[in-house]
Amino acid sequence: MQHPVVIIGAGPIGLAAAANAAERGMGFVVLEAGPRAAAAVGEWSHVRLFSSWSELVDPAARRLLDASGTWTAPDDAAYPTGGEWRDGYLQPLADLLAGTTGGQVRYDSRVVGVARAGRDLLVDSGRESDPFAIHVETSQGRERLLGSAVVDASGTWTRPNPLGADGYPALGETENANRITYGIPDFADQTIAARYAGKHVAVAGKGASAQGVLVGLAKLAKTDAGTGTQVSWLLRRPSVGDAFGGGDNDQLEQRGKLGQDAKAAATSGIVTNLTQFRTASVTAQADGRLSITSLDGQSVSGVDEVIVVTGFRPDFGFLSEVRLDLDPALGAARVLADQIHPDHHSCGDVAPHGHRELTQPEQGLFLVGMKSYGRAPSFLAMTGYEQVRSVVAALDGDLVAADRVDLVLPDTGVCNGAGAFDDPDALADLGVASGGCCGPAAVEPQLVTLGASAGPASAAGGSCG
Ligand SMILES: Cc1cc2nc3c(=O)[nH]c(=O)nc-3n(C[C@H](O)[C@H](O)[C@H](O)COP(=O)(O)OP(=O)(O)OC[C@H]3O[C@@H](n4cnc5c(N)ncnc54)[C@H](O)[C@@H]3O)c2cc1C
Repeated sequence: MQHPVVIIGAGPIGLAAAANAAERGMGFVVLEAGPRAAAAVGEWSHVRLFSSWSELVDPAARRLLDASGTWTAPDDAAYPTGGEWRDGYLQPLADLLAGTTGGQVRYDSRVVGVARAGRDLLVDSGRESDPFAIHVETSQGRERLLGSAVVDASGTWTRPNPLGADGYPALGETENANRITYGIPDFADQTIAARYAGKHVAVAGKGASAQGVLVGLAKLAKTDAGTGTQVSWLLRRPSVGDAFGGGDNDQLEQRGKLGQDAKAAATSGIVTNLTQFRTASVTAQADGRLSITSLDGQSVSGVDEVIVVTGFRPDFGFLSEVRLDLDPALGAARVLADQIHPDHHSCGDVAPHGHRELTQPEQGLFLVGMKSYGRAPSFLAMTGYEQVRSVVAALDGDLVAADRVDLVLPDTGVCNGAGAFDDPDALADLGVASGGCCGPAAVEPQLVTLGASAGPASAAGGSCG
C-alpha cells in the first residue's frame, strides 16, 4: 500500500502543500499541533500583514476553493490581518482539504519524532526504500504513523530567540519571565495596553516586528492612559542609522511604510536608543522593576516591561533521527542559505526556488516554509507556495512541473502594505508619508497575482501578473 505524504503543520505553507497534493490526487495527512488551522498565525491575529491578499492565497488552493463554490474570495488588493488570513482563507482551506478523498487534516496532533521506519540515524540499509515513521502526540496518547514522504512545514513561531546576546537566555531572563514578552503585543486589547501604558518598556530587536512594537507604543503614548510611556530601545548594532533601512539589501526597512512609521515613533520623544547593547543579565530591583545590563557594562534600570522581538529559530528536535544537511549559521537548507542570507537579501529579492534547493540527504524529506529559511527573517508566503508546488510535483514524479518556475517576483518588490497593527495609518497623525516597503515610496504598490490558471500538469510558464 502506498503511504500518504505526511505534512507537518496546517499553516499557510503546509496547507498549500496539501492543496497541491489534493489537486494531484495524492494521499496526504496534515498533522497540526494546535486545535485548528494556522495556530501560529492565530497567535499574531492582530498584526496586519504587509502583503496583500493577492500574495497570500496559494494558486492551487485558490483553484480548489473557487471550484468548491462555498468560498468568497477576498479583495486581492486588500491587506488582511493575521486573523483575517486565517478566518478568510486558511481555515476554509483546511476544512475543504479535510473533506477530499485520500486527504486528512488532524488537529491536536503534535509531531515529536520523524525517522525511517525501523531505522535510527545510524542505520544505512533500506533508507531509500522504507517509509517514514512519524511519532505524534495527541490528547489521546502517542501514535506512530507511516508516510511515503514528509513535508515539514512546522514554521518557527514556537521558538523565539531569547534576549540574551549569546543566543541563550540572559542571566535572570527566565526568573523574570513575568515581565518579559516575546513577539508583538496586541496594543488594541485594553488589558494588554494597560500593561504597557505609562510604563518604562525596553524593546529588544530591530526588524519589522520590533518596529511594529515601537509604532504601537508611540501610539499608546498618545492616549491619556499612556501619558509617561517611555521606551528604551535595545539595539545590538552600533547605531540606529540604518535600522529603518539604509543598505542596498535592506529594502523592507529602507522603503517601507512600516520603517517610516517606526522612524517617526523612534523620534517622537518617548524612545531612548541604547546601541551596541548585547544583553548579559536581567536583575529584579528592590521595587520589582528590572535592570538590564549589557556585556560591555551599559545598563538600563527602572524597566517595567520588556518586549523581545529578536526573531525566531527552527526546532530540529523532532528531526534528530533523519539525515539533514543544513547551513551551520542559518540552519536553512545548505543550498538555499546563500540565496536567503539576511546580510545579502531582504524581503522580496529571494529568487523562487523549489525541490532541488530543498532536498535533504534523507530522500523524501523536505523542510519548507518559514522553517526552510532557518534563522533568516526574509521568508514570504508566496515563495513558500512556490516551494511546495515544486516539492509536491517532485514527490508525484512530475519533474517537468517540479523544475519549472511558476512564480515571478516583480522588480519593484512585493511588500507594499502597512505591516503595522490593525491600523495602516497608525502614525499618520505624526505626519508620516506612506510608501511601499520594497518599492520606492513614490511608486504605486504593485499588485502581484499568484498564477491560478495553470493546473499541476500544465507546461505553461510564468503566471504572475
Ligand atoms: C508577525 C508576522 C507577520 C508576517 N507578515 C507576513 C506578510 O505580510 N507577508 C508574508 O508573505 N509573510 C509574512 N510573514 C512570514 C510568513 O509568511 C508567515 O510566518 C507564515 O505564517 C509562515 O507559514 P508557515 O506555514 O511556514 O509557518 P506557520 O504559519 O508558523 O505554521 C506552522 C504550523 O505548524 C504547526 N506546528 C508547529 N510545530 C508542530 C509540530 N511539531 N507538530 C505539528 N504541528 C506543528 C503550528 O501550530 C503552525 O500551525 C509574517 C510572519 C510574522 C510572524
